[in-house]
Amino acid sequence: MTTGADDGGAEVFGLGALGAGIGPMPASWDLEADVVIIGAGATGLPAAIRAADAGASVIVVEANYDVGGHAIVSGGNVPLGGGTSAQKKYGIEDSPDTVFADLTDWSIVQPNGWPDYRYNDRAVIRAFADHCAAAYEFLVANGVKFKEIPPDNAGAHNTGNSAPRENHAFWTDGAGLGSPSGRGGAGLVRALEASARLKASGFSCIIG
Ligand SMILES: Cc1cc2nc3c(=O)[nH]c(=O)nc-3n(C[C@H](O)[C@H](O)[C@H](O)COP(=O)(O)OP(=O)(O)OC[C@H]3O[C@@H](n4cnc5c(N)ncnc54)[C@H](O)[C@@H]3O)c2cc1C
Repeated sequence: MTTGADDGGAEVFGLGALGAGIGPMPASWDLEADVVIIGAGATGLPAAIRAADAGASVIVVEANYDVGGHAIVSGGNVPLGGGTSAQKKYGIEDSPDTVFADLTDWSIVQPNGWPDYRYNDRAVIRAFADHCAAAYEFLVANGVKFKEIPPDNAGAHNTGNSAPRENHAFWTDGAGLGSPSGRGGAGLVRALEASARLKASGFSCIIG
């Protein structure tokens, strides 16, 4: 990995998060990595972590002045079920098949069951259902903290109905440099960002 300065190390240009890497964008740079991720939001940060976990070097390219995208201003309400450790902790029964049925079966008429479920892509929802619980454990393993309350459906309009699946990330430092809105999404994003920076020795956030 090289840059205009060619110091061979991980680079962070621009403001970046955690207050790191404040500095001017170099006039020229030339970076290489096994995996290049465009966008450091709700999708890009976990993707960077997964790639690093698999042993790849990673470059994250972010167009904004900081990481986080929409996710950092989001409510941090994370709808993941299918048998998560949080659901088990509170005695909530759920399974991948229940997630799949809830999100594809138009005949479900329970509270919080919306008829628009019938338009969902079944293959996408099958994959979501089968990886739902693992995705929750992935977030927890990578430092995301959720409120110590039973999963519910608050903050979600159509994430499920036959089992509570909403987990709530939180942020306690208010609005400011660390969080544009002071909402729970910053808790989600900053934890994932910290994990990505720790794991991926080649993590770079190029603010363009
Ligand atoms: C106010 C608000 C509240 C929300 N609350 C919730 C909630 O509570 N629960 C929930 O599940 N969802 C919520 N959402 C939705 C959720 O935030 C998004 O679904 C999620 O962030 C999408 O993830 P993403 O990675 O696709 O996009 P983002 O998180 O937006 O990340 C995309 C990133 O890519 C960058 N980018 C774009 N183009 C380029 C480019 N060409 N080069 C480099 N970088 C680029 C962007 O700057 C951004 O950082 C909320 C959204 C908003 C706006």
